[in-house]
Amino acid sequence: MDDSPSKREACGIFGIYGAEDPARLIYLGLYALQHRGQESAGIVVSDGSNVASHKGMGLALDVFKEGILAEMKGKLGIGHVRYSTTGSSMLRNAQPFLVEQIDRIFALAHNGNIVNISELRRKLESRGAIFQTSTDSELIAHLVLHKKGPLEERLVKVFEELRGAWSVVMLTPDSVLAARDPFGFRPLCIGRKGDAIIFASETCALDIIDAEYIRDVEPGEIVIADHNGLRSVQGPRKSHAAMCIFEYIYFSRPDSMIFGHGVYNVRKHLGLQLALESPVDGADLVVPMPASGNYAALGFSQGSGVPFEYGVIRNHYVGRTFIQPSSAVRNLGVRLKLNPVREILRDKKVVVVDDSIVRGTTSKLRTRTLREAGAREIHMRISCPPIRYPCFYGVDFSSKGELIACSNTVEQICDFIGADSLAFLTLEGMFRAMPLAEKDFCSACFTGKYPVKIADEYTKTCLECRPMDLSRWP
Ligand code: SF4
Repeated sequence: MDDSPSKREACGIFGIYGAEDPARLIYLGLYALQHRGQESAGIVVSDGSNVASHKGMGLALDVFKEGILAEMKGKLGIGHVRYSTTGSSMLRNAQPFLVEQIDRIFALAHNGNIVNISELRRKLESRGAIFQTSTDSELIAHLVLHKKGPLEERLVKVFEELRGAWSVVMLTPDSVLAARDPFGFRPLCIGRKGDAIIFASETCALDIIDAEYIRDVEPGEIVIADHNGLRSVQGPRKSHAAMCIFEYIYFSRPDSMIFGHGVYNVRKHLGLQLALESPVDGADLVVPMPASGNYAALGFSQGSGVPFEYGVIRNHYVGRTFIQPSSAVRNLGVRLKLNPVREILRDKKVVVVDDSIVRGTTSKLRTRTLREAGAREIHMRISCPPIRYPCFYGVDFSSKGELIACSNTVEQICDFIGADSLAFLTLEGMFRAMPLAEKDFCSACFTGKYPVKIADEYTKTCLECRPMDLSRWP
């Protein structure tokens, strides 16, 4: 896993209706979804009329202590873990957003990116709306409050105006709602635990509280859980989906089911396909880059008949490398996190399987470490095609300049990382390994074919660097 700072997950969301102690169950759900965002965590709960909220910077484990959870009484709630894809990482941008307007309280937690955010926000500001944050999630909450009619109708109207990716869970004092954008970019599933209804980004968050998976929220669907039970409203929908294929390759947990299929098996199939396309003659070992390369490496080993060995061991007590703020510290973090097993690697011709290469700097360091540990030859095999285009739908492949495959050939990348050979899975091979049809995936970071048009002015911080007209101030 070339987990440079430019390959980060977008967010994890969780909602529950009808539970005895929702705050603790949400906390556990966020704990299971922590891989999707580590910058901030938040929970909002309601007892049917009173709403309580707590948010903080850092991991769920650090933000929520026993005393805080004990005070958050209620029977419904929503939660969020964040990695910022629109708006900087700071407490005021942490979610869920809680908006209070005379007789209304509405909270929202969002995974994805709204790409026409500037245009919509300008419209609302011209009508007097005041924003506290620089995120697209607050924009959705304001749009909902500015509409008229029952909540479900307002949501349908808002979703017709938005462009981009959104999986959201929402809270009113007496209901929890969940919705996905018309293309269903980000995952969102529905579960049940006794009488309680649960919404979560991935099924691993259902497993942790021993809840049963029912089904996914469909693209364009709005699902409402309240005292009447569970019901569904159809919002805007497209003729085909554009689910993020990278959720299967890297983002989601291998023990999760997303888009209706298990991630573990998809990753293994990617490895099998890679072994068919790019075998290595006379290889002694297949070694995964832990942990996200494990399953593709297993598939490669089974497909090629080359023995699988853990030639690199991960220290689980070191945080993800991208959390480190400077490249100097980050490089140090890479060495702290993974350690080669010399007795396994010495004098061996090794196939190293990784899930992807973003900037190439991490792969370069790791190749050097394997050589220093005695590997005779290193043949890198990557279980997805080269990433050549940025993502605008909730994943931080932020600029073309950061993507090594954008301006380098496979041979040049191989030279840069210092491997003896390098091969990526082909686009056709990637789709062949998928459990769903090609037309239902977004693969824009590989192909440049964006399912939703991107506004020219759109950037991650577009709401933080807008020119101000100072003449309008008194
Ligand atoms: S561009 Fe890539 S990372 Fe972004 S949604 Fe599409 S497939 Fe996923």
